[in-house]
Amino acid sequence: MTDVEIVGSGPNGLAAAVTLARAGLSVRVYERLSQLGGGASTREEAAPGFRFDTCSAVHPLALASPFFRAFGLARRVEFVTPEVSFAHPLPGGASGIAYRDLARTADELGRDGAAYRRLLGPLSAHAREVARFTGSTLLRVPPHPIVAARFGLRVLWQGSPLWGAGFTGATAPAMITGVAAHAIVPQPSPVAAAAGLALQAHAHAAGWPIPLGGSQAISDALADDLRAHGGEIVTDHEVASLDELTARAVVLDVTPRALVRLAGGRMPARYRRALERFRYGSGAATVHFALSAPVPWADERIARAGTVHIGGTREEIAAGENAVLAGRHAASAYVLVSQPSVFDPSRAPDGSHALWTYTHVPTGSTVDQTEAITRAIERVAPGFRDVVIASHSATAADLAAHNPNYVGGDIGAGAATIGQLLARPVLSTDPWRTPMRGVYLCGASTVPGPGVHGQSGWFAARSALQHEFGIRHTPSLAP
Ligand SMILES: Cc1cc2nc3c(=O)[nH]c(=O)nc-3n(C[C@H](O)[C@H](O)[C@H](O)COP(=O)(O)OP(=O)(O)OC[C@H]3O[C@@H](n4cnc5c(N)ncnc54)[C@H](O)[C@@H]3O)c2cc1C
Repeated sequence: MTDVEIVGSGPNGLAAAVTLARAGLSVRVYERLSQLGGGASTREEAAPGFRFDTCSAVHPLALASPFFRAFGLARRVEFVTPEVSFAHPLPGGASGIAYRDLARTADELGRDGAAYRRLLGPLSAHAREVARFTGSTLLRVPPHPIVAARFGLRVLWQGSPLWGAGFTGATAPAMITGVAAHAIVPQPSPVAAAAGLALQAHAHAAGWPIPLGGSQAISDALADDLRAHGGEIVTDHEVASLDELTARAVVLDVTPRALVRLAGGRMPARYRRALERFRYGSGAATVHFALSAPVPWADERIARAGTVHIGGTREEIAAGENAVLAGRHAASAYVLVSQPSVFDPSRAPDGSHALWTYTHVPTGSTVDQTEAITRAIERVAPGFRDVVIASHSATAADLAAHNPNYVGGDIGAGAATIGQLLARPVLSTDPWRTPMRGVYLCGASTVPGPGVHGQSGWFAARSALQHEFGIRHTPSLAP
């Protein structure tokens, strides 16, 4: 009999699988799609020879995460780290350029440079420590209390209506909100500030790296290690009920809603009610563009950025994001752009480029965002339309159909409210363990939430090792 069965081969499912296999257990992973990797996968789209990440594309969390550091990800996958972590073009031609080098970034911000440095300097200097406590449950004492306190004070500054205090121009605040808007939450808010500052600390530390070959390289490295330690992956296999699983422990890379369905009558009523209270957030819609040439950015410094945030000033982004949360499509889209082919020629045929974009939309939206995103890019890169050869669009409803973890197109697999950061999916110091014997949850709906960090899978596996197999030590994951 197999010791552990895992449902779902997203980064958390595979992180759990690797950890359990490394402890000497027999492990089998089931994946409903024919391609493994969930939110860390790459495929040809839009036109022949153009390769796009279906979901995640940029990986500061992967390089900083304690799980992937233990796994030695940087020794197994080749990453390229752009000199410019992100750029933020503004109407009228100004742009904020976030170099990995904080001092250079601050210098180019002029009068607001000092405030920008005051905000990010102490966090980027301790980016790994920031990753340790933001990558774990907030119900335990943080391992680095002073860094946590500095982080908390800055969250209060940038998460409140006084977020403009200390800044005089529009560029630095727009850059901060452009990152905070990665989380689909009200602006300003403590959750937006926390998510943004955690990511922005990495922008000025190890940077925002891109894996050569795409995010699939991360999943393949996990899958290779799993197989090397006796694990098995069964693709094209959707698990419809826990009754199909016979292993001593099962680890589920699914949402609370899916767990309720999979468990049927086996779930205690109190736990079921708690999972039914779990809320999902707004959606996202992606558009992947095949280009005949690089994007003609008005500010040529943007050509060197791995990521670009488009959406105008802080106030314009906030208005758009708050409209989406109220169930409306934003009048002017906030667009997240990654231009991987600038750094990785394997993504597009010679001389051409692959541009990965997405925007936020109301939950379940079926509106194709190709025109809205094209218009937004055209405003800061006149002539963009002329270099588009083809595009591939996925609405929020399409994303949900592709991966049931993205309920309504919610790429965070659960709303990022303060309540759901603490209780994800339930209030517990071991939220990965369910009251059903041998059943664990490990997806992004559990602490610490979305992103390719493998932390949820690692925590779930360690809990299962301890409670089902009496193994208290964490196995080595080193290559
Ligand atoms: C458009 C987009 C952009 C993103 N950008 C980034 C980024 O740049 N950086 C970053 O760090 N994160 C990013 N993310 C978030 C990141 O991809 C997710 O948070 C992460 O993939 C979550 O991992 P997971 O293992 O919890 O679940 P998932 O990656 O969602 O994987 C779950 C897997 O389980 C499978 N599955 C579900 N139910 C069943 C079943 N019943 N039987 C069998 N298989 C099942 C699914 O098919 C899927 O493969 C992005 C996400 C999206 C959608």
